[in-house]
Amino acid sequence: MNPEELFKNIISHSKEYGFIFQSSEIYDGLSSVYDYGQLGAELKKNLRDYWWKSMVQMHQNIVGIDAAIFMHPTTWKASGHVDAFNDPLIDNKDSKKRYRADVLIEDHMAKIMAKADKEVEKAKNKFGETFDEALYRSTNPRVLENINKANAIEARFKQALEDNNLEEVRQIIIDCEIVCPISGTKNWTEVRQFNLMFSTQIGSVSEEANTVYLRPETAQGIFVNYLNVQKTGRMKIPFGIAQTGKAFRNEIVARQFIFRMREFEQMEMQFFVRPGTEIEWYNYWKETRIKWHRTFGFGDNKHRFHDHLKLAHYANAACDIEFNFPFGFKELEGIHSRSDFDLKQHEQFSGKKLQYFDAELNESYVPYVVETSIGLDRLFLAVYSESLKEETLADGSTRTLMSLPFALAPVKAAILPLVNKDGLPEKADEIVNLLKYDFNVTTEAKDAIGKRYRRNDAIGTPYCITVDYDTMENNTVTLRNRDTMEQQRVAISELKGIMDQTASLSSLLKQLD
Ligand code: ATP
Repeated sequence: MNPEELFKNIISHSKEYGFIFQSSEIYDGLSSVYDYGQLGAELKKNLRDYWWKSMVQMHQNIVGIDAAIFMHPTTWKASGHVDAFNDPLIDNKDSKKRYRADVLIEDHMAKIMAKADKEVEKAKNKFGETFDEALYRSTNPRVLENINKANAIEARFKQALEDNNLEEVRQIIIDCEIVCPISGTKNWTEVRQFNLMFSTQIGSVSEEANTVYLRPETAQGIFVNYLNVQKTGRMKIPFGIAQTGKAFRNEIVARQFIFRMREFEQMEMQFFVRPGTEIEWYNYWKETRIKWHRTFGFGDNKHRFHDHLKLAHYANAACDIEFNFPFGFKELEGIHSRSDFDLKQHEQFSGKKLQYFDAELNESYVPYVVETSIGLDRLFLAVYSESLKEETLADGSTRTLMSLPFALAPVKAAILPLVNKDGLPEKADEIVNLLKYDFNVTTEAKDAIGKRYRRNDAIGTPYCITVDYDTMENNTVTLRNRDTMEQQRVAISELKGIMDQTASLSSLLKQLD
């Protein structure tokens, strides 16, 4: 399947099986807002739980909170969001479509780099084992030409961002001859800044002062609670505060399904450290997070680090973990060393001291912060797109397979009575009752057994447990593994143990040690 087909397939599969629906679909939907259906909600919850437990439960010095979405409006003045949470926008005069200028340029650079990669790929296939990729990349004229071209645009773009020079950003678009994908023309407007925060009114509607924002990130809820948590939790530096929750951004280029949404969920952790140790912790969190991503078992080539082109003025290091989505490598998670900027800003705007007394040093200071910030919906898309496959079997037939890590699957086992009579469905219910305290399991008796297997393969259920006439005699069942399709006869009493070892969240968490 080519990437475009795969992406279309992901969207239709997610609707067909109840993972994701368009929001308010009966009214033709709301752009870039999505609802998670019965299976999607389970998968999303499992991903959230995995993140939460790996942060909070696996680290003695990290605790979790749940702050409100609404915050005092001054929070967003202090954080810089009121004045500077902007995207550079450009309109095409012919199609009247609006784009993010930075995205147009980044996509253009990615296309040029893809040409170089294609050239390398061709040579790799041609020369086989003896191929020296690094040498080829640094010497082949066609590859070099494209790499140099992309690098030159990147350098120019970086400078324009640093100078906040929107005219130059527009000029890059013109010089690169970037066209509107809809109209195909280069008839562009000026580049303008657009604030991404949604605002609404709290209490009586008329007064200006009652304007509140839907939070555009969860991090500020952590910063304003930093001292509350530190004091009541008696936290000693270094320590972290984690949080998951909804965030809202009035995204302009709202496309690519759940990759870029207007309402989405973030999972963020702010790690408070002694000034001067932040780079050490930044490197620690880079390693820790990439290791976490690799436990999904997608291989080492699916994730890569991408250093930020332009550092925010308060950051002294920042990178993204990018994932190879069906539409190419894109940001999945950000890791940022944010200095003491946020806490100092909140000190200044609130007039309250937000210092930490370091008993070892016998001094007080405002801690430095290293943050890890990941979008739950983007993680969902990464895991979903990587797991969904069409597989050709030995007999030439095909099956749709969702090869999710067992521990994350929405349904862990389907208990299937071979026939819908003779006490077999009741026996299946008994097994459900045995497993339901630890695992989300289902039972279904309708359709031929092969059809039921296929349906469960397509939603990622790791185990199908078949109840047959022998079960009634000796309390054994057939346990079918989703990936290998192998069936083994096991005692009902063994099921929980097998599933604990292979399909529980703790089995995944253990890989982090
Ligand atoms: P992008 O450059 O893609 O807009 P960002 O750099 O603005 O992302 P951050 O502010 O660092 O993103 O947010 C942290 C994480 O939140 C991102 O890595 C991403 O996974 C997620 N995220 C941000 N915006 C959205 C969105 N509109 N929809 C879904 N997830 C998002």
